[in-house]
Amino acid sequence: MKKRFFSGIQPTGEIHIGNYLGAIQRWVELANNPEYEGILSIVDYHAMTMPYEAKELTAKIKEAATMIMACGIQPHNSILFIQSHVPEHTELAWIFNCNCTMGELSRMTQFKDKSQDRGESVWAGLFTYPVLQAADILLYKAQYVPVGEDQLQHLELSRDIARRFNARFGEVFPEPQALLGEARRVLGIDGDKKMSKSLGNTISLSESSQEIWKKLSTAKTDERRKRRQDPGIPTDCNIFTSYHRYFTGKEELATIDRECRCAGIGCMDCKKILAKNMETILSPIREKYYELKKDFSAVEQFLNASALRCHSIAQETMTEVRKKIGIRW
Ligand code: SF4
Repeated sequence: MKKRFFSGIQPTGEIHIGNYLGAIQRWVELANNPEYEGILSIVDYHAMTMPYEAKELTAKIKEAATMIMACGIQPHNSILFIQSHVPEHTELAWIFNCNCTMGELSRMTQFKDKSQDRGESVWAGLFTYPVLQAADILLYKAQYVPVGEDQLQHLELSRDIARRFNARFGEVFPEPQALLGEARRVLGIDGDKKMSKSLGNTISLSESSQEIWKKLSTAKTDERRKRRQDPGIPTDCNIFTSYHRYFTGKEELATIDRECRCAGIGCMDCKKILAKNMETILSPIREKYYELKKDFSAVEQFLNASALRCHSIAQETMTEVRKKIGIRW
């Protein structure tokens, strides 16, 4: 039996290297590990928890699916589906809403962060979305969820919901475990904040090498290096900590670390090495992305086949759940 993991990504538009390094690269590694079976979702219902334009959502969903496939999530190693194509997610979320308290949801730090300064104008969906997350995971009885530290609180809530449901109605759900990977905090090219489209500090996976270089060449480095001969501290430089660390091999990374500290290398040369290394990893993804985008049928087929497979697993779980909670016999 393979170990099943579940993970989702919101269709927010362009997929950037923060998304790639923080989540998708890990999905691909796990998907290619024969011990695991990956169920991956573009969680469009979650995208509705904040104001959005209906016309743009379709394009964003397609964009996310195409780029995730281009990154290496493929029919032979994974399931990739659109959350709303399996309606059982919202059915189970409602049942879980009746197994979760206002107190528990009020303690979610992500809700506190996202709802800051918005008072009572926040959608109720933003408050209850950790319940929908629990439903996403438990619908497939996933044993594992690849998460970062910032998602642990929500995963703990999923575990509490599973435990409470099992205690009230009988054993149905496993308590999903965290698959904690290396914590990767990828800051934007401003070097100040987490990479985010809304902050305009991203490097998109679909950008050309010229566009990437334009951004890198003006990106902030260690402020100690005002002149070429000033030594720097790589761990105080976003170019090193957010990008070189993940795109550059160990030996070259050690050389850059050493040469930066003695001003043996200038920042422009250091950035050129980074641009070359990024290109090695990103150009095959970019090529595949444009190929899939030109003929969307391969993406569509993958999404449709995945939705069918997920629907069949979800129906099995819901047949069990409906009986346990007393609405079927
Ligand atoms: Fe950053 Fe590289 Fe410049 Fe050092 S040499 S400050 S690591 S860009």
